Amino acid sequence: MHTLIIGGGAAGMAAAIAAARAGQTVTVLERGRRPLKKLGVTGNGRGNLLNAGAPDYPGGADFAAQVLAAMPYERLAAFWEDLGVPLRLEEEGRVYPASFLASSAVDALLLAARRLNVEIIVNARAAELVRLPGGGFEARGTVCRYLPDVSKKNGKARPGALAEETPARWRGDRVIVAAGGAAAPAHGTDGGAYGLLTAFGHALTPPRPALCALLADPEPLRALAGQRVRAALRLLDARGACLAESRGEALFAPDGVSGIAAMQLARWWKPGSALRMDLREAVLGLSAAEGGGPEALTETERLLRLRAQRRDGCPLSELLTGAASPALNDALLRAAGLERHSREPLRQLLSARPGALAQLARAIADFPVSVTGTRGFDAAQVTAGGAATGGFDPRTLQSRLCPGLYAAGEVLDVDGACGGFNLMFAVASGLVAGGAK
Ligand SMILES: Cc1cc2nc3c(=O)[nH]c(=O)nc-3n(C[C@H](O)[C@H](O)[C@H](O)COP(=O)(O)OP(=O)(O)OC[C@H]3O[C@@H](n4cnc5c(N)ncnc54)[C@H](O)[C@@H]3O)c2cc1C
Repeated sequence: MHTLIIGGGAAGMAAAIAAARAGQTVTVLERGRRPLKKLGVTGNGRGNLLNAGAPDYPGGADFAAQVLAAMPYERLAAFWEDLGVPLRLEEEGRVYPASFLASSAVDALLLAARRLNVEIIVNARAAELVRLPGGGFEARGTVCRYLPDVSKKNGKARPGALAEETPARWRGDRVIVAAGGAAAPAHGTDGGAYGLLTAFGHALTPPRPALCALLADPEPLRALAGQRVRAALRLLDARGACLAESRGEALFAPDGVSGIAAMQLARWWKPGSALRMDLREAVLGLSAAEGGGPEALTETERLLRLRAQRRDGCPLSELLTGAASPALNDALLRAAGLERHSREPLRQLLSARPGALAQLARAIADFPVSVTGTRGFDAAQVTAGGAATGGFDPRTLQSRLCPGLYAAGEVLDVDGACGGFNLMFAVASGLVAGGAK
């Protein structure tokens, strides 16, 4: 049995190792100049390979759960340890190579593949996949040849230019499409490979960027750029209904809001969405356990009133000094509609406007950011959407429409939360597809 794998990412290489261990001969086609380029940059170069906590898949949760039932955390951890990658458990269930180097995972996968005689053909792009009348599949595409890399003065090398692109064909008794999604095109994934599956009748859930920063009207945020806050975020639809919530670190950027808490919301964004940030933890030290709702707002107002009593002679602009940066203070006063009153002494202001502190409490608890979109596929770490999972058997990853055709990894309509869930699904589905008979 010869297995042809399209895509030399985490899913494809895991599939290759599993298929070769099952006694199959294996060829991996990788369009890039080397396999596993994306894996090498994951987790800021540290490679968050797994998550030991409860599965968290905002997209394709049921399918992911079934795949992970076939290939659970313990077996995935054992897979990495067997490859020679000791693992280290960090906060929130995140699991990394003990070296804290994603490149350790890359090296170990490539060594295992080499020892199992997996053939890896780089610079080879599959553009079309056909089923052969006599059985098996043929991938048709091109192989690129590049000029040698050019050394630069700083000691680094500039990749050599494309010299020629020639047509090529590769055959397999079965084929595993593990060509990734549409996110991070710099790593070879531009959505071009979905056609390999849709050609066999597989439905495509429209791909959208996931795990990327939210863009926002830059003017009100400019002064806040670079500031990190712990916050609870809500993304609302045009009618004010909550689309999704997240909690954690948010980072104000010149063009929007980044940080994990904001990135988790990107997959839910749609035109007309609005972002609300609950900044009570960052500004007043109220813990997440305080929760939301009217009582929490009353508590926020009470804390502001206490501060106001202690700062009796101060102007409103100094009420939050020590709690919020000057830029955030200004932004909160603006959001509360109190900007014009910032120079007024607190006592005078509060007797003329008894509701002022309630307005400020609301701005802190429900800080509005007018989001205009996401940073898009170029900046996204993951794709939401992809080949509809209903077309595949989660126990084997085999197509329900075309026997012998398999899919694994991000090409499928599964996306996980930040924290190792995406590589975990990629490797789990790759191992299941590769090991399937
Ligand atoms: C910057 C960044 C950081 C990330 N950090 C983490 C993290 O720490 N933890 C985590 O769980 N997830 C992380 N992710 C997400 C994770 O890397 C992906 O979900 C995962 O790599 C998907 O694996 P895959 O094998 O399905 O696809 P990919 O890793 O995208 O691999 C697909 C491969 O197929 C090749 N290919 C595409 N089309 C063709 C074709 N037509 N012919 C031949 N080859 C083709 C591509 O060149 C690519 O090498 C991160 C992603 C990015 C971009």
